Amino acid sequence: KAFTHLPLSREFQENLKYLHYETMTDIQEMSIPPILQGLDVLAQAKTGSGKTAAFGIGLLHNMDTRRYRVQAVVLCPTRELAEQVTAELRRLARFQHNIKLLKITGGFPMHKQEHSLSHQAHIIVGTPGRVLKLLQRGSLVMDEVKMIVLDEADRMLDMGFIDQIQGIMKFAPAKRQTLCFSATFPDEIQALSQSVMNEPVEVKV
Ligand code: AMP
Repeated sequence: KAFTHLPLSREFQENLKYLHYETMTDIQEMSIPPILQGLDVLAQAKTGSGKTAAFGIGLLHNMDTRRYRVQAVVLCPTRELAEQVTAELRRLARFQHNIKLLKITGGFPMHKQEHSLSHQAHIIVGTPGRVLKLLQRGSLVMDEVKMIVLDEADRMLDMGFIDQIQGIMKFAPAKRQTLCFSATFPDEIQALSQSVMNEPVEVKV
């Protein structure tokens, strides 16, 4: 199915065309409609499936760029994935000139990230340890977060990030949309989705 079926702005559609995104991948076709409806989605997706654009389109569609507050947080298992996700979101956001994305991962000086945070951002892409630390320090505020994405959730659990993820969720409003993308569905993923999501729509390809 073509992206033109989605209820997105004209600018968004034009940018997708510019990026040569014409036909949706399976995961995009099945997950974008419930994401745009505001539902929690638990999706099975591997690297290369187009999962980043699946949640990225949902995030960017929902941002109020006139309001300079963090409205979405994407958690990734590694710095490299956070870098890739940030790059893909920037491509998708090309038509939204005033949107601010900020990558927050370990391995970079915290004071610089705190300085960037003090100037506000709409979307944070980060790794769980650093995101939680900045929340605990009060430099990152999630009071107005509408959406949280757990990308490669099974890898995050394999790497032992469960406590950090649970900790981060405590700082987020209860009324929010949570999206979870995972290549595999072990019991731990089911348990995580039970504790942090609200009646998620399950999407398997
Ligand atoms: P991902 O699975 O998110 O890592 O995406 C894999 C690659 O596919 C990325 O380079 C995307 O830019 C590209 N991509 C995602 N969705 C589409 C699409 N519908 N049509 C063409 N390319 C896409």
